[in-house]
Order: sequence, then C-alpha cells, then structure tokens
Amino acid sequence: MRQLIAGNWKMHGLSADAVALAKGVATGSAGLGCDLLVCPPFVHIAAVAQAIGGAPVAVGGQDCHAAKQGAHTGDVAAPMLRDVGATWVILGHSERRQNHHETDAQVRDKVLAAVEAGLNPIVCVGETEQERASGQETAVVGRQLAGSLPERFAGVVAYEPVWAIGTGKTATDADVAAMHGFIRDALVRQFGEAGRGILILYGGSVRPANAASLLAVPNVGGALVGGASLKAEDFLAIARAAKAG
Ligand code: PEP
Repeated sequence: MRQLIAGNWKMHGLSADAVALAKGVATGSAGLGCDLLVCPPFVHIAAVAQAIGGAPVAVGGQDCHAAKQGAHTGDVAAPMLRDVGATWVILGHSERRQNHHETDAQVRDKVLAAVEAGLNPIVCVGETEQERASGQETAVVGRQLAGSLPERFAGVVAYEPVWAIGTGKTATDADVAAMHGFIRDALVRQFGEAGRGILILYGGSVRPANAASLLAVPNVGGALVGGASLKAEDFLAIARAAKAG
C-alpha cells in the first residue's frame, strides 16, 4: 500500500504564500512512490486546488462541522470543503481537542459528515506527555479510537503524540512501533480484516532528517507533517523518504 505524506499548514500564510507553496509542492510531485496531500486553511483551499492543477497532490481541510448547514457561525460544513476542491479532511487534531474541547463523540459525528460529503477523513489520536509519563498512553489512544471512529470506518488514522507536535521532540522508532502495533490490533478488533488495510500515519516533528527511519517502522503508513510542510523542499524531501508502495 502506498504511504501518504500529508501536510497540515495550520493557520499559516496569506493567499500568495499558500499559492506559492502549493506550486512548489506540485512542481516536485511527479514520480514519487507515495501519495501527497496538503491541508491549507479553509480560505485558501480553492486557490490551492487551482494552483495544483493536474499535479498528483490532493487537497484537504483541517476540520469540518458535523452538520451540513445551519446556524454555526464561523464553522465550515463538509460539503463546502468538497465544493471548493478538497477531497480529504483532518479531524480530531489535538489542537482542536485541546483548544476547542472537541470530544471523541464530536469527532465521530464529523467523520460521518465527512464521509457522507465524499471526503476521506484522517482521524488524529495521541496522548499528552503527562499521560505517557503515567503509563496511560495505550489506554488513552484506545479510548480515542473506540470513541472517534464510526462503524465501518474506511479512512486514515494519524497517531500524533501531543508532546511531539511542534516541539522538535520525536517519538523514538521503538515507541512508534509499539503504538502503531497497538493501534493496528485495535483496528482489527474494531473492524475485522478491514482494519489491516487502514493507513496509520505518524505525526509529531517529522523532518527530512528523521523521516526515513520513522517511515520504515512497521505499521507506519505515512506521515502527518506540520512545521516541515510549510517549506516545499522539506515536505518533498520527506515524501522522497517514503517507502515506495
Ligand atoms: C501536526 O500538527 O499535525 C504536526 C505533526 O506538527 P509538527 O510536524 O510541526 O510537529
């Protein structure tokens, strides 16, 4: 199965920056052995999709609302993302779980809305530093998987230890192997054989220098990249480190 290298641009860049970055990624995207995805802020999705043109780079949102429409000031519905050119959406990112108090049940409802709108969801899970220090990492991630993934889930899961996001601290290959193995087993318990085919991305300070070893860990199906996705050359260097599928 091809690995997926996904860029989460978070709340960075004005429209000219987003278009330049998208063109940079598109220019280097031919002939890679992995799939590429960029997730700009909502307001740049249409311009980024247009800048990418026919290059093999998908575009996604960073969140969506669970409702199709309605009185939800400031929110964006899944069909709106699809309408402006997105085919993916990141859901349950730890910054949304922490800053917006999103619960597993809310993430699950968003996943259902995304799938109904024709979007591929990437559902993020991961423990805090304190939870790992107290040995609760698998209990926390197991609970998030059970609560956030609906029946017959066919999207992607991203394991992102909260303490590794934007900190420069990366989980060791051994920690990643252990957690991705745990997640794989949980997915097989939850979805039977279909659980073996679900990509599990690793996210948390992935850089060109550590990408090759992280992407070679068993059960790592790609990377969700924050900071390093804001430079086309770094993002493409990570993509070149992916295992050919
Ligand atoms: C992220 O926000 O999903 C992320 C992994 O960020 P960073 O790569 O900067 O740690």
